[in-house]
Amino acid sequence: MKIFVVNAGSSSLKYQLIDMTDESVLAKGLCERIGVTGAIKHTAADGRVYAAEIPMPTHSEAFEAVVYAMTKSDAKVIDSFDEISAIGHRIVQGGSIFSKSTIITPEALADIDALGELAPLHNPAHVLAIRACIKTFGTEIPQVAVFDTSFHQTMEPKVYMYALPYEYYEKYKVRKYGAHGTSHHFVSQRVLAIEGSQDKKVITCHLGNGCSITAIKDGKCFDTSMGFTPLDGFMMGTRTGTLDPSAVTFIANKENLTPDEMSNICNKKSGVFGISGISNDNRDVAAAAQQGNERAQLAIDMQRYQILKFIGSYIAALGGVDAIAFTGGIGENDAELRAYICDSLAFLGVKCDYEANKVRGKEIKISTDDSKVNVYIIPTNEELAIARDTLALIK
Ligand code: AMP
Repeated sequence: MKIFVVNAGSSSLKYQLIDMTDESVLAKGLCERIGVTGAIKHTAADGRVYAAEIPMPTHSEAFEAVVYAMTKSDAKVIDSFDEISAIGHRIVQGGSIFSKSTIITPEALADIDALGELAPLHNPAHVLAIRACIKTFGTEIPQVAVFDTSFHQTMEPKVYMYALPYEYYEKYKVRKYGAHGTSHHFVSQRVLAIEGSQDKKVITCHLGNGCSITAIKDGKCFDTSMGFTPLDGFMMGTRTGTLDPSAVTFIANKENLTPDEMSNICNKKSGVFGISGISNDNRDVAAAAQQGNERAQLAIDMQRYQILKFIGSYIAALGGVDAIAFTGGIGENDAELRAYICDSLAFLGVKCDYEANKVRGKEIKISTDDSKVNVYIIPTNEELAIARDTLALIK
């Protein structure tokens, strides 16, 4: 059984073809500059590459390029798309409607479209991609939507509500939805499997360009750091994380900025990039800090402190913690950050195994055997999680 996994943005389309008999990746690729010019880079599992610049006025031409790459190019991996059992789409916003993955029916597609109001940068692009998929592959191949938000639908109202006038929740459904749910679910399931019990208190830290932390009780999300949008939580590559909303209105008034301009600053010009003035990439900022750049050091110190604070608050919210897991580009690679978190939690009996902590991007326990809390690196695999959900639904 082969599952085609699609992660579509407004001008890009990432994909993987996964053979579910052994969960191996047969091919992966990326179409870029859709709607502008168009380019595809497709890599087969054995390393063969097909790359081309092809006009892609819409996502339909991008999917046609993918079909060519998969079935006819020098890097082909299948003879025909008939070999594909289903298509799984990553969908950013499922609102309160979707608490789990779903087969895409015309009604589900209409709901995903309507939820575009809550995720204007993402859901409309997903809808375009789904429609283009139907155009390219017909309705014979089932399509499944896997939502970034659905894992977080188990949060209680006291956790997801904002202390705004209640009417805004009623009128506009303004509340915390969270994000990165597919990753937090995948990583926490892995931790619970290693721990050998569902009945554990787990904190998963997805630290990449976008960052979020989730508190999990009995395998279910109890709280998560991202909010109404992925801007909330703590400092990320270019996003502010949580801050006093008055700072936002104050700057907007002083600089005469529209709400959209201010939102752009909070989403794209802030975070590690905004503080360091160097880059949104933690590696560049760490290198500058080592050279003595004070703003770079401040950015790193701020981000680490904010991560620690979230973990601490979730330990209180869960009434303790059995396991903490790190994932994402930073979480899987940044040994110094992980050691800082472990050392800062030494008062709880957390003990870092500094030798194991040197490992990068591999599943491993990085706490000592006598640590009171198990700490892990668990590489995330959102595509595989989407493929598994897709397979489960079509079965
Ligand atoms: P992601 O969004 O998950 O791809 O993660 C991207 C982030 O991971 C960037 O900020 C990178 O700087 C960071 N990253 C990747 N490798 C390392 C590393 N070796 N040390 C620190 N950060 C890293």
